[in-house]
This record gives sequence, C-alpha cells and structure tokens, in this order.
Amino acid sequence: MNRRRSYKRRKTLYKLIIFDVDSTLTVTKSGATFRKTAHDWQWMLGRLSKLHQLKQAGVRLAIATNQGGVAFGYFEVADILRELQAMARIAGIPKGGLYICYTHPKASKEMFRAVDNRRKPGPGMLLEAMRDFEASPEETLYVGDLPEDEEAAKNAGVAFEWADKFFSEDSHVAIQAPSDSSAK
Ligand SMILES: [Mg+2]
Repeated sequence: MNRRRSYKRRKTLYKLIIFDVDSTLTVTKSGATFRKTAHDWQWMLGRLSKLHQLKQAGVRLAIATNQGGVAFGYFEVADILRELQAMARIAGIPKGGLYICYTHPKASKEMFRAVDNRRKPGPGMLLEAMRDFEASPEETLYVGDLPEDEEAAKNAGVAFEWADKFFSEDSHVAIQAPSDSSAK
C-alpha cells in the first residue's frame, strides 16, 4: 500500500482566491510584526511562484488587506497604495483586484476613524471582490494568517485556508482541474 495515498484528500478548485497580504504573502524587511513604513516588505518564500502558477491555471486572484497603519499615521495612503500596486503587478493581480481598508475604529487620525464592515473581520472587501469577479461564495477562497481573516471569510460565507497550509504541499486547494476530469 502506498502510505501517502491514505493522506490524500479531495482537492477543491476555486474560481477566485483572495489573499491577505501582511504575513500571508509578505513579511517586513525590518523584522517588525507590522510594517513601519510603506516599503517595509518583502515576499515570503515560495509565495510568488504559487501565485504565478494559479494565475497561469486561470484562477482569478485578488487581495484584501487591512492597512490600519494609515489610520495611525505610520504611512500615507498614496505610499502604501503604490507599494501594494507594485506587489500586485509582480504577482499578476489586476489593479481592480486590490481591496484595501484604511480605517480603524480607534484611529488617531480622525478622518480614518470609523466602524467599517470593509475592515476585517467584516466581510465587506471579500463581498466586493466576489461581486467584481462574478464569483459565488462556493467558488471563492480567502487565504490569511489571523483569526480576523478566518472570521471575515466566515462572515462572507466563503471557504478559508491558513496561509502556511495553502502554500504547503498539504493544501486542499487544487491549482487546476485534473486532466481526466472530462471523463466523469
Ligand atoms: Mg496578515
């Protein structure tokens, strides 16, 4: 018996996969938990190649990220937007696939102080992505690293996978339909 076979689960193919950014796709260069400046980021190992694989297989890719640092004056909207757009461009994620929430309920900058259902764990950004990419909840997966990410997925009614798992061999996510799928 092939022992590995017993661990194999059915993999799911998604039309739309939405990703968190910080500690899901990127980490800081400074070693801090959260970026101190807009350009304080670098790709995590293996992330970019997997995104390219998914893109090539025809999966629609999007980003949904809380950037509350703006609300506390760590960086400006224009600066973080430029960095996220550059990141998305490298990954092959379209400009329209970038969903960012700048608000925070306790923001020090008043104009960003808000209770907003776009801010995770609210489902707002995920719902916007599903609408824009015409994907149903069943066709959509959210990938993140924090409980608020898991909660946002639940609130939007979509599947969730932890980033570490998603980017490992053990992921339950299929990159493309098996070649014999037409035989079913
Ligand atoms: Mg994160």
